[in-house]
Amino acid sequence: MTTIGVLALQGDVREHLHALERVGVEAVGVRRLAELEAVDGLVIPGGESTTIDKLLRIFDLYEPLKASLADGLPVLGTCAGMIMLASDIIGGIEGQQTLGAIPMTVRRNAFGRQVDSSEVELTWRPDGSTMHATFIRAPWVESFSDDVEVLAVDEAHGDRTVAVRHGNAIATSFHPEVVAPGTTPDDRVHALLVDIVQGR
Ligand code: GLN
Repeated sequence: MTTIGVLALQGDVREHLHALERVGVEAVGVRRLAELEAVDGLVIPGGESTTIDKLLRIFDLYEPLKASLADGLPVLGTCAGMIMLASDIIGGIEGQQTLGAIPMTVRRNAFGRQVDSSEVELTWRPDGSTMHATFIRAPWVESFSDDVEVLAVDEAHGDRTVAVRHGNAIATSFHPEVVAPGTTPDDRVHALLVDIVQGR
């Protein structure tokens, strides 16, 4: 059985656990080193990247997680999780660290006040289909290296890159774990993480 962890220090952990269960894997919260070592892949949820960064260090998980990611542990980072996976941040707070799994610069709280929170239709490039995406004080990808694949662009807000893949790491500006009221869940992003884990 494939087991995927959700980093459970802060943020919308439960929604990701549910999405992972829907795509048929065992989903567990990760707060300690032994739990990190037991998973086949990891989700870093949305929340507040500055808090997640601080708690990773308080829980002695920062260095081991960084090393696991450098070793190719499959990972999905959403929103604050995208910020955590970036190599560089614009608009971070003094001393804010990231895990550097994806060679990209992200801009924190990039969409500004008016679009603090929004829902848009994106094209999910892996299959060319439409994806309904929820953004909440989201970052966007400002720049990235040549070996980063773009998975989705937000055409409604100036063609911003909002989903990327680099090796076994996926990051989205939006919240694929959020199920909009009255809609059926769209778990393609979590399914891609599972494909990466199972193809390893
Ligand atoms: N603005 C938050 C941050 O900087 C991210 C928001 C979110 O994850 N919904 O971490």
